[in-house]
Amino acid sequence: MQSENSGFFCSIQVDSKNCVSNAVWVDARARMSYTYFGDAVYFDTTYSQNENMAPVAAFTGVNHHGDTVVFGCALILDRTESSYGWIFETWLAAMDRRLPFSFTTDEGKGMAAAVAKVFPQCFHRLCRWRILSRCKKKLTDVYTRFPGFHDELKRCINGCDTVPVFDMFWGSILDKYGLRDDTWLQSLYEIRHKWVPAYLTSSFFAELSLTHRVETVSRFHRNNFSARVSLSTFINRFEQHMDSLYANEAQKDIISFPLEQLLKTNTVLEKQAASIYTRSAFETFQAELIEALQHFAIKVQDGPYMKYCVERDGNPPTRHTILYSVAEEKAWCECCRFAFSAIPCRHVLRVFVLAGVIMIPEPCTTKRWTKKAKTGPELIGLNVGNESGSANDVASRYNDLVHDAMKCAEKGAVSAGAFRFAKEVLRKAFMEIKGLGEKLNTNDMHSAVANR
Ligand SMILES: [Zn+2]
Repeated sequence: MQSENSGFFCSIQVDSKNCVSNAVWVDARARMSYTYFGDAVYFDTTYSQNENMAPVAAFTGVNHHGDTVVFGCALILDRTESSYGWIFETWLAAMDRRLPFSFTTDEGKGMAAAVAKVFPQCFHRLCRWRILSRCKKKLTDVYTRFPGFHDELKRCINGCDTVPVFDMFWGSILDKYGLRDDTWLQSLYEIRHKWVPAYLTSSFFAELSLTHRVETVSRFHRNNFSARVSLSTFINRFEQHMDSLYANEAQKDIISFPLEQLLKTNTVLEKQAASIYTRSAFETFQAELIEALQHFAIKVQDGPYMKYCVERDGNPPTRHTILYSVAEEKAWCECCRFAFSAIPCRHVLRVFVLAGVIMIPEPCTTKRWTKKAKTGPELIGLNVGNESGSANDVASRYNDLVHDAMKCAEKGAVSAGAFRFAKEVLRKAFMEIKGLGEKLNTNDMHSAVANR
């Protein structure tokens, strides 16, 4: 069962007894956000941690301010591979089959199989925060006996930005707490390339830093769902929650700060970053730049791809190798920070300072973190084709126009003046389209008669 109007998409799967088994719904704003920020998607199933929670999962992402955005919701009454497959397939169809670069989920065989089937080109990552919280349950005895264990484990996972450093730290934790034979930790290590940041350098995850935790909908669940709340009330509240997320984003879009309040160094790099990035992205850049200035860099190889070594305080674990190409205006670092944030890391910035680069090279900036993230063509992600994507049918034309109207609404809502202007322009456009439509309908009828 499927319905689609005013940009709102809803699809319900029923079982053999005609009872609802799963559902997916996406509103026009979620679709719009996805066109800008759909590069990294998180399938949030925090409801499954608590049996009193409504079985509502959310497709979420991160906007240019580093805040959570919702790309759609799913009701999951049947948690099997085929159900997850149906939910992913249905949601992807609602998003014009535009794939994200990375797709993050909880662990689970059914989930993994469904992701592999529907998102074969995406990098499938497992949520490390969920894995960390599961560690508490699996290693209760260790957590009770050693209160510092959790922080140490968290530092190992989130604080190591290269593979050798992570492996060394992980091994030292196993030895220190006598956990070499623990089968749970062994199984986590076997799948480390799926969840440990140091191993995740081949895709993009839209996290501003390694400790940036994308907020889940669990707090909303806790505050808004109980046995006395019906599912329809819950869903209405969820829509209101989404309204507040959009309002918060719109508010942040129009707030600006004087440069002198923001700057902490005397570099052109920082000034330029403050002018292009959103506040949150700038703060990440600034922290990396300040760290960069605490590092020491040396060129170890010349040529088209110059090689540098960067380290802090002569400390070998902080040593990183960077390749820099002047011709391509690009730099590559072995750390995982760029994969997570797409903001130049401290090591690359140190090389820029040493090489006299005063402006961030364009290939090193990503529009999705800038103040202009929501302008221009919104084609983030891989478009794998849409069978009904041409403008040859009413539904496609309708969706296309709803998308444009949403953009007008977004820009027109930022101030009272913009609102009045948008209203007037839309009124005129409506009158013209209406007049033109009547004329075109008449012409179509005449040509149909003439063709008989
Ligand atoms: Zn780096």
